[in-house]
Amino acid sequence: MTGRRHVVVVGGGIAGLTVAYRLVRSSNGIPIEVTVLEARPRAGGKLRTIEVGGIAVEAGADSFVVRKPWAVELCKELGLGGELVVPGALGASVWTGGRLIPFPERSAFGIPTDVERFLRWPGLPLSARLRVVADLLKRARQGGSDESLGSLVERRLGRPALDGLVGPLLAGLHAGDPDRLSVQATFPELQAWERGHDSLIRGARAAVKARPEPGDTTPGAMFATVWGGLSRLVESLETAIGPGRIRRSATVSSIRRAEDSRRSLVVEAGDAEPLAADAVVLATPAFESAKLARGLAPDAAGDLEGIPYVSTAVVVLVYPAGTAERLPDGTGFVVPLDAKATITACTWLSNKWPQDEYGDRAVLRCFVGRAGHESAVDLPDDDLVSAVRADAEAATPLGASPEAWRVVRWIDSMPQYEVGHIERVARIEGAMAATPGLFVTGSAYRGVGIADCVKQAGRAAAGVRAYLHSLPPAGADHDTREVIPWTS
Ligand SMILES: Cc1cc2nc3c(=O)[nH]c(=O)nc-3n(C[C@H](O)[C@H](O)[C@H](O)COP(=O)(O)OP(=O)(O)OC[C@H]3O[C@@H](n4cnc5c(N)ncnc54)[C@H](O)[C@@H]3O)c2cc1C
Repeated sequence: MTGRRHVVVVGGGIAGLTVAYRLVRSSNGIPIEVTVLEARPRAGGKLRTIEVGGIAVEAGADSFVVRKPWAVELCKELGLGGELVVPGALGASVWTGGRLIPFPERSAFGIPTDVERFLRWPGLPLSARLRVVADLLKRARQGGSDESLGSLVERRLGRPALDGLVGPLLAGLHAGDPDRLSVQATFPELQAWERGHDSLIRGARAAVKARPEPGDTTPGAMFATVWGGLSRLVESLETAIGPGRIRRSATVSSIRRAEDSRRSLVVEAGDAEPLAADAVVLATPAFESAKLARGLAPDAAGDLEGIPYVSTAVVVLVYPAGTAERLPDGTGFVVPLDAKATITACTWLSNKWPQDEYGDRAVLRCFVGRAGHESAVDLPDDDLVSAVRADAEAATPLGASPEAWRVVRWIDSMPQYEVGHIERVARIEGAMAATPGLFVTGSAYRGVGIADCVKQAGRAAAGVRAYLHSLPPAGADHDTREVIPWTS
């Protein structure tokens, strides 16, 4: 490795793998060696395709948004462009009053655009529908400060619409509490709509007008995934990075400044020899990054630690042959925030991502856990599956018991972008900029979705390259020890 710069990436989720891939692909004139250290026996983090009843299903993320192009572009670069698939169904419902009611047509973030039709929408009582429409008459709030997603939606559309229409969709994507989530950090469009159009309904109309008609082929589709599952994206990244550069079951326990080496940082992972690095990228959850950064960037550590995380679970249910046709049309449903249910949402996988392997089996993916409602995640598997089945089958009676099921728990998995998150991230980035060689990236900062993680990872890689450029040339005349016997 003499003469080459060494970058250690901690965490082999989509963010860490993408940083590593970008650095391996383009060093911008500086020879770079990269090592990814991943705590688990497999890379991919929250991208994980599993098998249930002989069917490949996603245990974590199931697709990425197409509107934000970074994940699609990455797939194309990796040769997966021809293997992108879009959903086989459109349209979700809300499960309310014991019925499944499709979201208002041509809505954006659940916000209706056709007032006349919305006034007949059966998903909310008439008084609540009239309150939504009053949005057209209300003046925009003055000032550009942050507020909670819940506060903005309640102010404009009323509480019932927050709980039963917009909240389950938007807060659901973060498994969050809308009264705590920052609107600027999660859905800044809503604030822009209020400011630009004096109304969320008019803003939603403009947004819907600008988007392609449903039924158009890509790029009209809103979501896409890789045929066969997102683990294929992970595998393609691993291959492109070079498997020898990825160490699995390697939990990083500390990072410190080197005292006696041409490389500035020392990374310790388990019993392995400590690694010397010119730069380290923490692509780990914020609470883990806080621990690892504490000695080097104590101010950043405090802010990293302050980003709360929520635990969720995914329960996959595979029903026997003949059940698929009993599912209604559409991709699935969400559950109102004020409902007494175990599940927060359910995707009808056999509608949304149809595969030959499904045959005519109904395949459901149910979500459990959100901010303030995490206790069900800890139920024993059998109890959790019973509770989830009770909800799912009440919404869509399938007349059969599942022939296979699987529970996957995602403990402390969803970072919560609470009010003030943007300022917090700016402080973290400022503290990191003042800590030579240390970088952070991943879902904790500027977008939880895969596309945003890929974008942020690209930026982190660019930051690393710029930093390495700023260093004096690495040469053989320097101390060339790669491994520092710091314990001796
Ligand atoms: C159930 C679920 C469904 C989702 N659905 C979608 C979806 O449909 N579309 C979408 O766009 N997004 C979705 N998301 C969000 C998205 O999957 C994540 O935000 C994204 O994958 C996070 O990537 P990451 O690389 O930042 O973090 P992670 O995937 O969490 O990766 C971090 C990695 O760091 C490793 N690590 C932690 N500590 C250490 C250590 N000390 N040393 C070494 N390694 C360490 C972890 O093992 C992990 O592999 C979903 C998330 C969940 C949980």
